[in-house]
Amino acid sequence: MRFKLTLTLLLLAVLTASAQEKSDSSAATQRNLQPMDKAIHYGVLPNGLTYYVRKNQSPKNRAVLYLVERTGSIQENDKQLGLAHFVEHMAFNGTRDFPKNQLVDYLQKSGVKFGADVNAHTGYEQTIYEITVPTDSMQVFNKGIDVLLNWAGYLSFDPVEVNNERNVILEEARLRGKNANERMSSQTIPVALNNSRYAARLPIGDENIIKNCTADELKQFYQDWYRPDNEAVIVVGDINPNKVEELIKKRFAVLQNPVNEKPLGNYSIPPISGTRIKIVTDEEAQYTTFSMTVRLPGTKERTNTEYLQKIRTILLNKMMNDRLKDIGKAGNPPFLFAAASNASSLGNTDVFSAQAVASPGNLEKATKALLAELERARKYGFTDNELSAAKNWYQGIQAGLNLNIDSHKSEAYAQEYSRNFLNDEGCPGVEYEYNFSLAYLKYIQLMEINDLFASYISDDNRFIIIEAPAKDKAILPDEKTVLDWVGHPGADVQAYKDVNVDKYTDVLPEDGLKSGKIESDTYDSHIDTKTFILSNGAKVILKNTNFQTGLVLFNIYGFGGTSIAADADYASAVLSAAMVRKSGLANFNQVEFDKYLSLRKVSLAPFIHDYTQGITGSSAQSGLETALKLIHLYFTAPHKDTAVWNGLLSEQRGWLATKDNSPAGVFADTVSMVLNSNNPRAGGVNAEMLKTANVDKAFSFYKDRFADASNFTFVFVGNLDDIGVRNLIKTYIGSLPSTHSNETFKDLGMYPLPGKITKIVHKGIDDKSSVRLVFSGQFDYNQANNLQLNALGEILQIKLIERLRDQERSVYAVTAGAYYLNYPTGRYSLNVQFTCGEANVDKLIAATMEEIDKIRQNGALPADIEKFKSEEARLTQVKVKENGFWLEHLASTARNHEDPGYISDFIKSLNDVTVESTKACANKYLTGDNLIKLILLHEKK
Ligand SMILES: [Zn+2]
Repeated sequence: MRFKLTLTLLLLAVLTASAQEKSDSSAATQRNLQPMDKAIHYGVLPNGLTYYVRKNQSPKNRAVLYLVERTGSIQENDKQLGLAHFVEHMAFNGTRDFPKNQLVDYLQKSGVKFGADVNAHTGYEQTIYEITVPTDSMQVFNKGIDVLLNWAGYLSFDPVEVNNERNVILEEARLRGKNANERMSSQTIPVALNNSRYAARLPIGDENIIKNCTADELKQFYQDWYRPDNEAVIVVGDINPNKVEELIKKRFAVLQNPVNEKPLGNYSIPPISGTRIKIVTDEEAQYTTFSMTVRLPGTKERTNTEYLQKIRTILLNKMMNDRLKDIGKAGNPPFLFAAASNASSLGNTDVFSAQAVASPGNLEKATKALLAELERARKYGFTDNELSAAKNWYQGIQAGLNLNIDSHKSEAYAQEYSRNFLNDEGCPGVEYEYNFSLAYLKYIQLMEINDLFASYISDDNRFIIIEAPAKDKAILPDEKTVLDWVGHPGADVQAYKDVNVDKYTDVLPEDGLKSGKIESDTYDSHIDTKTFILSNGAKVILKNTNFQTGLVLFNIYGFGGTSIAADADYASAVLSAAMVRKSGLANFNQVEFDKYLSLRKVSLAPFIHDYTQGITGSSAQSGLETALKLIHLYFTAPHKDTAVWNGLLSEQRGWLATKDNSPAGVFADTVSMVLNSNNPRAGGVNAEMLKTANVDKAFSFYKDRFADASNFTFVFVGNLDDIGVRNLIKTYIGSLPSTHSNETFKDLGMYPLPGKITKIVHKGIDDKSSVRLVFSGQFDYNQANNLQLNALGEILQIKLIERLRDQERSVYAVTAGAYYLNYPTGRYSLNVQFTCGEANVDKLIAATMEEIDKIRQNGALPADIEKFKSEEARLTQVKVKENGFWLEHLASTARNHEDPGYISDFIKSLNDVTVESTKACANKYLTGDNLIKLILLHEKK
């Protein structure tokens, strides 16, 4: 299915942005502070700059570098709206040691990818800069430290560069905004933030100020707020911490605080007395949503007491959301989606928020169901079983983190230290947190949890926001009606009834299974994998790793998929796996089954895609046998639940009803059609097709796809004990039935249309155009060709960022990338995509074609080839240490009949990318004979 839930993203981002506040260090608080992880080299320089340095080897040969500024848009005065964010952009447009765009250029040459490895983000109360650098070259690492220093004190603010960057920022505002969300947020945020300073300080700022501010004004903001006593430098990675600490002391001591420092200010959000309601609509809105938020006093996470309270909140959020999810699993759920949780918010406050997304016309039903659940929890509380399940879940996460302390990512540490710097959050270390939860979790009482939840429910300092498509305006309730709903929640709710999973004895009678044999057993010493062919014809690939202790991942697939279904059965086929996935398994309904899975630390789900079907999932090493039993059952004894099926259909109708309100959605549909030869299946199941969906057809389609084990390949990666795994595989996979039917997919000809095609879609109110250019054709799929095409895509991306963003200044982002397939037949496509103002569409398409022509005539520049090669090499070094990479690599090379061993020589093979090869590749694949131009323009009224 191609629907995604985009709730009121902006609003949620506002509500969950973390708060910053100077600590009130009372003596009592000081005494109970959580101890800082001893592995951290922490200190404050005489100028006030704070640093955190830690050695960590995941990933190896890498370090994560952060510069954290305790400033953001909240410090802007009325004439500076947007300047905090503008300053952040100028960090990439000229500093003392990296004039103009040399900084990005330099990093790219060192294998650091712009966007992925270098990034920055401006919030209300913080601005954070991040780079990941290699540590196998001291020179490159030291330059990374130089970059931080330049950001901290030496931005140039060249007026020419400032002028150029304005348009990029305005394009960023266009890309992120100019949609229903932004238009509705502009009405709801003043309510949500009670007209506080925050409501008038969205980090993106004011268009006029961005257009007109001077370099001096930017410099003023920078000098006022970027100062060592507002800054932290964080370095986590494969480094010598003593040396790095010395380096920081030496390099950053030169920074000075300004005289007459401006105070950061202490901003808050004044309480709302009672409840405020805002009902907004927009013609492009897709979803009808209700949200209710109570603003609460802010909490901290500095002491053990506070940390324990944080754990209570986490448990509570988990229990509440499990209940809401369970309702969603019932036959005819009252809402499309619902959630409720407590989280920290802006201005030293927390919020408790509850949201429901309703299908069209069902706002009352959805809202009342959500309110009834809150009332049930408030009135009767949670149960001991729910609490102990939540504790188990939490303990499991802590134990997993502690067990895999060696694979704890440098990024995660750096984020924790930035929270320590900004919010005083404790950073005692993974092991301490694990031991703490072992020792204290058991003392958390149900009564405390219930009281805590009751304290979230209040009719004071509360706001309610309803958003809906404009065409539903007439059927929306008025404020008085909404107040009445929330004033009388769940009049007849009863106490929650526990779900009983005790009826589990064993999900499968083992003596009823006829074990298979391993007929052939091959070992690939190149990449350390084993491949078995079992007596029933099933193929099994195993890779034993120690990247993550106690974890196993699996990916099981066979060819066929929905391509096998006749057109008349297509809707049933597409929905069939979703129905089985939601219908429970063994002697469990879905609610029980999910609880059972979490108890056993297993997760798995069957799928049926266009050309394949299978099961993906993961399990704890201890849960592997359970996982294999359940895999067996998804093949042999799936469930059919008609109530679930009907719920699924009404849910689909709900999503489809308003899909066409959004310009992006309509454009995406056109793109799918053109890129799939107008095959009716291209847009997914539409409302018309949905009418033909039938539960029995769906169920038998599912069973047919999983009837022949000889058609499947089973890939397992992770902590596998050899002998144990062999036996389990013989028992549960070897016993699966097979018919040796050699089933495979059908080629439905779903490829981009040939020839030169231009398709313009007119949709939407605002000036926000999308452009997509697609080059495509037949492709000889093999490792050498794949590499050349990838290189061409990546190099084109580098060129187009330079041209469209840095030179034309007419986009914020542009992506270029290559895609290729070996089945149903060899095909490639190379896509270029960007969002821009309507007036620039033709100019930017022409600029793109010009850049492509340059590569066709001269080949890529050697410098760009170097960037591609060093980025790709660095990326490969990191990913070959990850289970997820191997799972996908082994499955995909098996599907494509490739030798998976190529990965060991991959870095060497990068040398095959040359000026000549890029030239040849561009002339082969980018002739423009098959070129589709897709353009979204606003509606002509
Ligand atoms: Zn930006």
